[in-house]
Amino acid sequence: MPPVAGAAASRLALPTFEPGWVWLVGAGPGDPGLLTLHALHALAQADIVVYDALVDETVLTFANPRARLEYAGKRGGKPSPRQRDISAKLVELAGQGLRVLRLKGGDPFVFGRGGEEALALVDAGIPFRIIPGVTAGIGGLGYAGIPVTHRDVNHAVTFVTGHMAGGAVPENLDWPSIAKGSPVIVLYMALSHLGAITDILMANGRDPNEPMALVRNASLKDQQVLETTLARAVADVAAADFKAPAIIVIGDVVRLRASLDWLGALEGRILQSDPLGNRAVKDAG
Ligand code: SAH
Repeated sequence: MPPVAGAAASRLALPTFEPGWVWLVGAGPGDPGLLTLHALHALAQADIVVYDALVDETVLTFANPRARLEYAGKRGGKPSPRQRDISAKLVELAGQGLRVLRLKGGDPFVFGRGGEEALALVDAGIPFRIIPGVTAGIGGLGYAGIPVTHRDVNHAVTFVTGHMAGGAVPENLDWPSIAKGSPVIVLYMALSHLGAITDILMANGRDPNEPMALVRNASLKDQQVLETTLARAVADVAAADFKAPAIIVIGDVVRLRASLDWLGALEGRILQSDPLGNRAVKDAG
């Protein structure tokens, strides 16, 4: 029985995965409960699943048992297949008349190169569908009890990659403007350049005591959260031996975690009622 079975699938009008199509699907940050119904339905119908390093194994257990599972990420220190090769492979598999599910961590269009792969499909005349997923920079932070926006704190958020294709800190970003204009900054792939990034933000006026959180393996059973500040981050990360993959957030929304750490509460953490100190301000006024 497919995971989204008969009646539910037809009531939801979930689409049929036709042979020769490629579906670019977001798997979410890890917890299979965060798969969309479309993603689950796609997994049940696919002939082949081409998946990335950040897709959790449990998610793959929802694939059709007859589906071939093919890994397209970095393994055992070997370099990852080139993007061009992956795109060519998708075109080739679809050309063979297979239902090709390209499964990516989080959302395929958020620092996931989904756009590039879709463009290659367009060039080759392969029909495709995009199935968005829960991105780490929103849902992953939600699992740490950190909202990316909160009315009393920020009216904007900036998503930044800490890594360029060549591995360097992104220099074509306008860091001074980000530092000045974005009350909350969410960093993907930034752990290896953490020092350079925190330095450039502080050099451009961010408070060294500004709160910051790093979430490793967000939404998975071994999720770890490190709360720190811009100035202390590098030392705290080294002391905790904190490793990738991690999603990083800088800004006052991190203070809300004292109240909103719902996973911590399940393990007995006592949640505070006024993390931003609003009541005192209002009482004084
Ligand atoms: N398309 C993905 C992002 C791919 S870039 C998405 O939408 O989430 C890879 C980066 O995403 C990692 O370096 C890390 O910063 C972040 N990331 C993805 N999944 C994560 C997880 N479960 N926990 C923490 N960070 C994660």
